[in-house]
Amino acid sequence: MLERVPLLHKELANYEDVVGAEVIDRIRALAAPLRGKRVLHLNATAYGGGVAELLATHVPLLVDLGLDAEWHVMEGSDEFFAVTKGMHNALQGAGIPWTHDMQRIYLERVLANATDLADGWDYVVIHDPQPAGILSFLEASPMARQLERAKWIWRCHIDLTAANPDVWGFLAPFISHYDASIWTMDDFIPDGFDRSGALIAPPTIDPLSVKNLELQTPFVDEICRQYGLDPHRPIVCQVSRYDPWKDPVGVIQAFRLVRDEVPGAQLLLAGSMATDDPEGFHYWQLTEEAAGGDPDIFLLSNIQQVGAVQINAFQRAAGVVIQKSLREGFGLTVSEGLWKGRPVVGGRAGGITLQIDDGVNGYLVDSVEECAARTIELLQNPGPAGGMGDSGREKVRQEFVSTRELEDYLRLFSDLDASR
Ligand code: UDP
Repeated sequence: MLERVPLLHKELANYEDVVGAEVIDRIRALAAPLRGKRVLHLNATAYGGGVAELLATHVPLLVDLGLDAEWHVMEGSDEFFAVTKGMHNALQGAGIPWTHDMQRIYLERVLANATDLADGWDYVVIHDPQPAGILSFLEASPMARQLERAKWIWRCHIDLTAANPDVWGFLAPFISHYDASIWTMDDFIPDGFDRSGALIAPPTIDPLSVKNLELQTPFVDEICRQYGLDPHRPIVCQVSRYDPWKDPVGVIQAFRLVRDEVPGAQLLLAGSMATDDPEGFHYWQLTEEAAGGDPDIFLLSNIQQVGAVQINAFQRAAGVVIQKSLREGFGLTVSEGLWKGRPVVGGRAGGITLQIDDGVNGYLVDSVEECAARTIELLQNPGPAGGMGDSGREKVRQEFVSTRELEDYLRLFSDLDASR
């Protein structure tokens, strides 16, 4: 059996204050015919990164609605995760050689996971490329009959607009076996992919999670002090894995320009090391080199016990939240910043463009210089930044709160049932 992730207890009723009774009633009505259905979400890691963040709320809410939902994590290995990270980078546009050896490592590990998968599901949701080949292996195995009842959904969290054709060419035949697929943006669906079962449903954040719930200013200030930051000096903050697409080095370059204009400014980069991301440590080192021991730059990770409550505090303490990604599936950190009423300066990439209305709740930027200029503007004029914060929070309430995604999934399950 694959590892089952223990779930938190969550109640849909608690979200009524955020999204209103009508939304809650609609979700309950959609879920009623699905009570008792067995749902499996399978991904590559229980910790670190956006998918784990999403599932930690989504699966408990399915359970609260009476579905028999579980979250399992596939079993990888250093070698496998090195291959799937290469795959991930290639799918986001990097030119990597996609060798036979890499394909073999991928297929062998996916096969091993397929044989360990529990059965008896009504819906199986497979997240991202790491476990995507599982369905094809099961179809070819003696377990195939047990699959007849299940509807299979592939959830793609990656920006595939410039996908490396070799890697997508390898993956696409596996995906074509699924009953449905979910994408963050229409633009991410590669040309030639059969769109008939494709649903567009961007990710969401949980306003009631420890990461996003309201915190009082003295508490926020105290957490900043514990990490050596001065809460009375301006703080800019990027929360993200140490990964080339998140461009932490570009953020440091932008920060140096910011500090020339806003003396006393501090930069906080917080990034957890995910278990399926073997490059993390390498990029941490590159980022550390770029920071060059600058006392105004704070590099933190989960290794220094930066957990959800600290991330929450840092995002609240920031005068400007930055997410300067060069390529981005969605970027939960953008909605997290907007929800906390912070203006967000984000790279004009993928899902960030869904969340930032340029000039309304933050700015979209295309370069280090632009990132610096917009950050300076916001730090020097906190009045407009405050107004942006209000519209950012409202944007998230309307479009990117967990209940919206829950509703999307329930609708999809019902539609798939209708087609049985
Ligand atoms: N995150 C965290 N601690 C860190 C870095 C990131 O808790 O040190 C969280 C972050 O708050 C967000 C998620 O991990 O909830 C990252 O999701 P996002 O969609 O921004 O990026 P991904 O890592 O999935 O590419």
